[in-house]
Amino acid sequence: MEGLMMQYPLTTTAILEYGNRAFQHKKVISYLPDGSRHAYSFGDLHKRCKKLANVLTQKLGITKGDMVGTYAWNHYQHLELYYGIPGIGAVCHTINIRLSSQQTEFIINHSEDKVIFVDATLAPLLEKIAAQLETVECYVLINAPEGFSTTLPNTMHYEDLLEGQSEEFEWPSLDENQACGMCYTSGTTGLPKGVLYSHRSTYLHASTVLAPNAANCSNRDVVLLIVPQFHVMAWGFPYMCVLTGADMVMPSLHLQPEAIIDMLQKEKITKANGVPTIWLGVYEAMKKNPPKEKLALQEYLVGGSALPASLIDGFERDFGIRGVHAWGMTETSPLGTVSRLQRKHAQLGQKEQLEIRAKQGTEFPGIEMRIVMDDGSIAPRDGKTMGELQVKGAWVLHSYFKTHNQENFTKDGWFRTGDVSTIDADGYMQITDRTKDLIKSGGEWISSVALESALMSHPRIKEAAVIAIPDATWSERPLASVVLADKNETVTPKELMEFLGRDFAKYQIPDQYVFLGEVPKTSVGKFNKKEIRRLYAEGKLT
Ligand code: AMP
Repeated sequence: MEGLMMQYPLTTTAILEYGNRAFQHKKVISYLPDGSRHAYSFGDLHKRCKKLANVLTQKLGITKGDMVGTYAWNHYQHLELYYGIPGIGAVCHTINIRLSSQQTEFIINHSEDKVIFVDATLAPLLEKIAAQLETVECYVLINAPEGFSTTLPNTMHYEDLLEGQSEEFEWPSLDENQACGMCYTSGTTGLPKGVLYSHRSTYLHASTVLAPNAANCSNRDVVLLIVPQFHVMAWGFPYMCVLTGADMVMPSLHLQPEAIIDMLQKEKITKANGVPTIWLGVYEAMKKNPPKEKLALQEYLVGGSALPASLIDGFERDFGIRGVHAWGMTETSPLGTVSRLQRKHAQLGQKEQLEIRAKQGTEFPGIEMRIVMDDGSIAPRDGKTMGELQVKGAWVLHSYFKTHNQENFTKDGWFRTGDVSTIDADGYMQITDRTKDLIKSGGEWISSVALESALMSHPRIKEAAVIAIPDATWSERPLASVVLADKNETVTPKELMEFLGRDFAKYQIPDQYVFLGEVPKTSVGKFNKKEIRRLYAEGKLT
């Protein structure tokens, strides 16, 4: 028998309309690229999203199902795009500004973006590849100063377009299963892959993330959105904050520790998110120069890489601020687990408590996880047995955009994360390794395979194997072990860095090189990265 409840589509427009009805006076504060502070209310956001909808449909010819790219920092205009684009039934494709030119070109052509909204400070990055972009009809510049010039073709200005537009717009009725946003992940082998979120998955993710067991946000909070809107939808915070009525602070490119501390103080921020590298920087800066008044910040949510127990401990001891560890992936919208102590843990000593809090945590309602061992059996939840972490749930993808590749999915409908983990008897998951041949540095991926093939294309190099090594600031950094083609020749790390600089972004280039007689191999002749990592850990890789 069917239930007798209304069909109420869970859409991003429903979130925007709710924010406007329930929290019209709540604030969105942006620190814009030029350093100025901009503030407006959820009511203003609502009006401007309607103006934007008129621009998209009437001036730019965007229709349902079209892809619209954004290449922008966190600020109110990007927030308007997060609601305006899906609101008319198009897809908001957020493009990661940290990817290499080749990856960016591939992504834009693959997704078939019709228009790209680009921050003026980022326009030079797109200028380099604009001639190769096959589907982009025009570029809309955001925050361009007077007299700004660019070689991008067919440019318009965001504010000019919105100026004089009507604040009336009737949102089309949308099916909640329609696509609303897209992010590409480079956290897999091969080419970047598109993850296409639906209105429903976005709504459910946001309304689950705000809960006390998760990001713990309410209408009494002021939230600093550090995770970029160009990376995994800023962890859904732009939707979560409107649903919960929290004031939002958007830092655009002001991500240096001093700038963040300044915002924490001035805006009386109570909650924030970010990768460990950011919070490590903030902690170090606060230790050097402690704020005169206690910050309003209660807790910061960390994911993307493992949150070190030492950082949780130091921040809390020195400043009374709680680090909360979460795990997720682009493929899981992204948040899948969070680690919070339960009442029964109160009796544990501080060390045991820290051990639990440094785990990646328990799954959100709406997400299921399991550990699968090499023989295909499910590992017991004993906190010891390791295997591949697999997940399924209401905001986990079931296939990548425009691919039929099913290798990341099991026959019984689970997504294979490529993370190697344990789950303990209380349900806390802990990542112990990853099967992906990738390095995660400062929250962004570096492909060891791409670096190896580039290095091996150097005329004086015979073999190159790249591994991740732990790094206190960036979580991980790449280390290249290299075998020269002719032992009598030399090549310096500086030469190799310059050589790689032609194809790779600066942060992707290894800063450490070791020269070996031979790269250790497995029985089938593959590079034995486990062995290289072991040699490095034992100090034998010199
Ligand atoms: P991305 O899709 O770029 O967000 O990357 C997702 C991957 O980042 C995961 O599969 C993990 O390998 C890694 N990751 C995310 N959160 C954590 C965490 N809290 N601890 C360790 N690794 C993490």
